[in-house]
Amino acid sequence: MANFQPSVTDPADFDVAGYQLSLPVDNARYACLYGGGPGGLRLNVVALTDTGAPTTAISLLERQASDAEGPSVRRFRVRAIREGTYSIHAQIPGGNDDYSAPLLVRVLPDRGDGRIMRTAFDASRSSLRVASHKLTSLDIQLIFGAPRGAALPDEDRKTYDIAQKWLKFQAYNQFDTLGQLVARGAIVRANMLIAKNLRLDVKDFMRTGEGVYGRAPIGNVVEGMECGTAFFDHGPNCRRDVVTHEFFHMVGVGHGEKHGDPIPEFADRALVNSVDLALNSADHLAQMVAELNGAVCDACLRPAD
Ligand SMILES: [Zn+2]
Repeated sequence: MANFQPSVTDPADFDVAGYQLSLPVDNARYACLYGGGPGGLRLNVVALTDTGAPTTAISLLERQASDAEGPSVRRFRVRAIREGTYSIHAQIPGGNDDYSAPLLVRVLPDRGDGRIMRTAFDASRSSLRVASHKLTSLDIQLIFGAPRGAALPDEDRKTYDIAQKWLKFQAYNQFDTLGQLVARGAIVRANMLIAKNLRLDVKDFMRTGEGVYGRAPIGNVVEGMECGTAFFDHGPNCRRDVVTHEFFHMVGVGHGEKHGDPIPEFADRALVNSVDLALNSADHLAQMVAELNGAVCDACLRPAD
């Protein structure tokens, strides 16, 4: 036999004795399927209503188990979409015989998590538009104004200084045309990543029980964005910037590592010292966008921000 157990990384709201998971609408938790022998890998894991019909009120996504859970464990994200009582079954293929006690899933009423996540998403979109507009204006100045040795207009100069700080090109020198060319290259590439971020049509946001701010797999839009408890413990600017950051991951941006290197858990700002590394850092890009919106960067360091 197989059995469902809480995930090691996200055990919240899993009642082991009751063999039950209780979570509000727009939340997701992880459950692991242990055992079942080598055939356990072939069990069909399905979500059903209390009358045994297939349901879309909860959705299941299989993810690779963490190292702590072990190689023979199957890990599922259980996402609550509509209120009600459902169950998850591990069935023997070719019939509907359970090979595990069904895990009961109670989807509790909406407590407003979805609204908070969608508000942060909207704020992230407008901040990206503002940043893109400013970078485009600066780019035009660098093409048409600066090569002739003109000083940048104040607003564009501010944009230059913020972009220079996060994208790691050199400080502005109106007589250095090569330096301006390098800056332009970085600005245009950053603006392309912002445009890609803005184009993402992701509506799947869910609150997990994990302590993180946000989670989104690199280069993957299908799985949507997970928001952890730290996301909800902070203010709107932090949440907005977390969405911006995670969406940069979804368009393939890492944490400031060299192309092909494994992705570190966080971007180490001391190591991100070139344009190429900065353009591969969701941290640098998201903080640049925040600052271009007049916000003080690192909003998540201030719980109320
Ligand atoms: Zn990240």
